[in-house]
Amino acid sequence: MNDKNLSIRSFKHIWHPCTQMKHHETHPLVSIGKGQGIWLYDTNGKRYMDAISSWWVNLFGHCHPYINDALVDQLNKIEHVMFAGFTHEPAVELAERLTQITPGNLDHCFFASDGSSATEIALKMSFHYWQLYGNTDKINFISLRNGYHGETLGSLSVTEIPFFKQTYAPLLRSTKYMPSPDWRNISDNETHLEFALKAASELESFLSKHHTQTAAFILEPIVQAAGGMGMYHPIYLQRARAICDKYQVHLIADEIAVGFGRTGKMFACEHAEIVPDLLCLAKGLTGGYLPLSVVMTTDKIYQAFYQDEVSKAFVHSHSHTGNALACRASLATLDLIEQYNVIEANQAKIDYLNQLALPLQSHSSVKNFRNCGMIWAFEVETDDPQFSNNFFQKALEKQLLLRPLGKTVYFMPPYIINEYEIEHLVNSVLQIINLQ
Ligand SMILES: *Cc1c(COP(=O)(O)O)cnc(C)c1O
Repeated sequence: MNDKNLSIRSFKHIWHPCTQMKHHETHPLVSIGKGQGIWLYDTNGKRYMDAISSWWVNLFGHCHPYINDALVDQLNKIEHVMFAGFTHEPAVELAERLTQITPGNLDHCFFASDGSSATEIALKMSFHYWQLYGNTDKINFISLRNGYHGETLGSLSVTEIPFFKQTYAPLLRSTKYMPSPDWRNISDNETHLEFALKAASELESFLSKHHTQTAAFILEPIVQAAGGMGMYHPIYLQRARAICDKYQVHLIADEIAVGFGRTGKMFACEHAEIVPDLLCLAKGLTGGYLPLSVVMTTDKIYQAFYQDEVSKAFVHSHSHTGNALACRASLATLDLIEQYNVIEANQAKIDYLNQLALPLQSHSSVKNFRNCGMIWAFEVETDDPQFSNNFFQKALEKQLLLRPLGKTVYFMPPYIINEYEIEHLVNSVLQIINLQ
């Protein structure tokens, strides 16, 4: 943390993301020299448990020898080749494996470089599909309140978190936001199920009037991550699937944060046993190693574009689409998901953490303690307007990397977290909350 030199050089020339740079006048950047498993080591050898998987991307820890070896091997074959007119083994194998492990018949993979690109691609694909069938009025998208789908202009249009979009609102397409089934907004005497059904009936009432102008409904299945780890009942997804079918609107599942076992199922849509028309994956796709995203879709959508005319092809290009190294990291990650048998193996860790967290759950300053798979979250009752930043600093002092979203503290550790590390995490957070 106190490699002053590196922190100062970074401060001088790098504009860091999601950051008021002026704050770094007083809070130096943490300079990371290496990583090993769940631990990050700063350039002085001080270590921090990466309890949020480096913004939710890391599944098996840092510098995993198996992924490292795969990358070195790939590096000696081909690092990257343009993806229009060319193909390579890692991308082909990855597409084959993804189509096998994802729900339903999502048989076609469109690769891109990051999550926001994936959501933009899904929106463009949906729009273009309807155009190809002469549904030229279907030019609008709907999404959930408090949803997050990225921060490029197209993806920010369907994001509904004021912090990210308020300033840029004049640049964005207008989008209608449906009530979120996130049960934190529940009223007394209402169950999670009833609350989700109520939100679904509002979706239906909107689409019954506006379906002819609506191309797609994009949502984060089960957990609205950037919106403060809001969780909801899977019945909402079942209803949303049925309503979208009824009104001929595409359902886009943005599993960028929740895919690959994070919610306790391989894909969050499986909680409701539904298949989206378009599925967006990124973040954990490469085990957090390299930027890569993919949009997967059905043969039905794919076939609409499969024509003689070039003008009917889907037009979207990124220079690093289908990067060979990233695909190879992804293949190694899929191997590890199988080898570790993560869904089952994580359950023991989930149970252990939940048991240790009972004092946290019942703590007088803690509200809405919740868990879904390898995600935990709760709100802290505090008057501190700088809560998030202060908590982050206090956590660093206890060797923890935790970065609350407003007053929501969450854990999203890599799957390799062990019992000792779970104890360190929960006990240290209890100490911080007790001193609140
Ligand atoms: C992070 C995230 C994105 C954006 O992905 P980037 O790779 O950061 O562009 C989109 N949707 C969801 C649900 C996310 O969590």
